[in-house]
Amino acid sequence: MAEAESPEVVIVGAGFSGLCAGIQLLRRGIRDFVILDAAESVGGVWRHNTYPGVAVDIPSATYSFSFEPNPGWSRAFAPGEEVRAYAEHCATKYKLRPHLRLNTRVEKAEFDSGANRWRVSTSDGGTEYSARFLVCAVGPLDQPRNPDIPGLDGFAGKIVHTARWDHGHDLAGRRVAVIGTGASGLQVIPEIAARAAHLDVYQRTPIWVFPKVDFAIPRGVRRLFRALPPVQRLVRLVTTAVSEVVMVLGIVHYSKAPFLVRGAELLCRAHLRRQVPDRALRRKLTPRYGFGCKRPSFSNAYFPAFTRPNVALVTEPIERVTASGIVTRDGVERPVDTLVLATGFKILEPGATPPFPVVGLGGVELGEHWDRERYHAYEGLSVPQAPNFWMMNGPYTVTGASWFSIIEAGTTHIVRVLAEARRRRAARVAVRVGPHDAFTADMRRRMRGTILAQPSCARSNSYYFDKRGEAPYIRPQSGLYVWRRARTFDLDDYEFTR
Ligand SMILES: Cc1cc2nc3c(=O)[nH]c(=O)nc-3n(C[C@H](O)[C@H](O)[C@H](O)COP(=O)(O)OP(=O)(O)OC[C@H]3O[C@@H](n4cnc5c(N)ncnc54)[C@H](O)[C@@H]3O)c2cc1C
Repeated sequence: MAEAESPEVVIVGAGFSGLCAGIQLLRRGIRDFVILDAAESVGGVWRHNTYPGVAVDIPSATYSFSFEPNPGWSRAFAPGEEVRAYAEHCATKYKLRPHLRLNTRVEKAEFDSGANRWRVSTSDGGTEYSARFLVCAVGPLDQPRNPDIPGLDGFAGKIVHTARWDHGHDLAGRRVAVIGTGASGLQVIPEIAARAAHLDVYQRTPIWVFPKVDFAIPRGVRRLFRALPPVQRLVRLVTTAVSEVVMVLGIVHYSKAPFLVRGAELLCRAHLRRQVPDRALRRKLTPRYGFGCKRPSFSNAYFPAFTRPNVALVTEPIERVTASGIVTRDGVERPVDTLVLATGFKILEPGATPPFPVVGLGGVELGEHWDRERYHAYEGLSVPQAPNFWMMNGPYTVTGASWFSIIEAGTTHIVRVLAEARRRRAARVAVRVGPHDAFTADMRRRMRGTILAQPSCARSNSYYFDKRGEAPYIRPQSGLYVWRRARTFDLDDYEFTR
C-alpha cells in the first residue's frame, strides 16, 4: 500500500456530482480535498456512455450548472460528446485538476471512530486515504447491468453493453439483436437500424415517447448567448420550469392534475399513430402502465425504425441465448451475431448502493443496512450510522427537472454542514436520529400520493422500484422546494462534536 494522503475531504466520483462538490468546497475556501475516480478522465456517465445516438433527454439549457451556462451547445438536445467536453471544461475552469486522482478505484471506506476519520482504500495497492469527511458522489447509473438470461455466457458472437460501447466493432452487414427499450435503447436503436443488415429488438416493456423538439442552435443565437449570458439564463429558466411542472404535476401531484398525465399519454399516443401506420405494431409499442411510472423519453427516430424492412420487434419473452442466437418462449430461434445489451444499470441493490462497502459506526455496512431496513437518508444524503459522510444521489433525491438541480441542492447542503463543522471546530458531525426519522416518515407518507404508488405502475418494470416495490429514489417534492430547503434546513439537525 502506497503512502497515505490525508486530506480534509475525499470526494469519490468525478462526474458532475463530484465536480460540483469540488467547486462548492473551493467557493467556501475549503481547499484541502481530493476527488478520486476509477476512470482516466472526468465526466462520469458521459465518459462511459458513448453509444451511437447518445444525447441528453432534457433540453441542454437545463442540463448544465446554473452558474455555468454553456453558449456552445450545438443542439437543443446536446449530443453526449458535448456534455463530456463540458465536464472537462468545468474541471479546468474551476481549477479542479490539482485535486483529481484519476485511475483510482475506491474499494472500501471505513470510519475510524477513535480518530473520527474515514479510511478509504483504493484498488491494487493504491494509495490509502485518511479523510475527516467523505462524500460519495458516484451516480446510480454507473455499473452496467447484464440481464439474467440463461446461456448469455455461452454466446459465441459479440456482446456490447450500451454503457461500454466498442467503437472498433463495425455493425455494417451484421445481424444484430438489441435487448432493452429504455432510455438508452431508444437512442441507439435507430442508429443500429440504419447500419445493420438486420435488427431484432427484444422489448419487455414499451416506453412512453414524446416528439422531440430538437434543432441545431443557429450560430447567431450561440453568439448572442456568449455575448449576453442573461439571455441564455432566461432560456434555461423557461426549459427548467416546463420540465419541472410536467414532472412534479405528472408524478408527485398527479391526483391534483390527472388531466396532465392523460394529456401526456394522448400526446405520446398521437406521436406513435403519426409515425407507425400498422395497428398491430402500434399496439405492441403502446405502454400498458401510466405515464410517469417509468422514465419517459423524446425521439422522432425511434418509432420509424420499427417500420424499416430490416427491423423486427420481438415481444415474446426471451427463454435463452444459444451460441448463435436467441430463443423466445414460443420456441423460435432468431440468429444473431452481435448482441447489444441496452439493459441499464445495477441500482438499489447491495454492492451497487453504495458502490463499495461503507462501514460506519458499530461496523454497520450501509448497503446491507439499507437492504435490511429500507432505503432512507436525511434529505437523501446522510444517516446517523455514518458520521462525516454524505452520499449524493441517495434515497429521495430525484426531483423534477434535471440532475443538475439535484446535484446543486445536494452539494449546497453538504458544504453548509462542512463549513459549520469547521466553524465549530467539530471533529465529528452526524445527523440526529430525530430529524432523520421525521424526514424519512414524511417522504414515505408523501410517496403514497404519487403516481408511483398507483396500481397502474405495476407493469412498468421501472428502475425506480426496488425489490419491495417501493420507489425510494424519487423525492415527492418539487425541485424548487428542495433548492430552498438545502439553503434553509436547520444545521442543528446535525450533532457537532469536538
Ligand atoms: C446515457 C445516460 C444519459 C443520461 N441523460 C440524462 C439527461 O438527459 N438528463 C438528466 O437529468 N440525467 C441524465 N442522466 C442521468 C445522469 O446519471 C446524471 O445526469 C449525472 O450525469 C450523474 O452524474 P454523477 O456525477 O452523479 O454520476 P456519474 O456520472 O455516474 O459519475 C460517477 C463517477 O464515479 C466513478 N466511480 C464509480 N465507482 C467508483 C469507485 N468505486 N471508485 C472511484 N470512482 C468510482 C465513475 O467512474 C464515474 O466517473 C443520464 C444517464 C445516462 C447513463
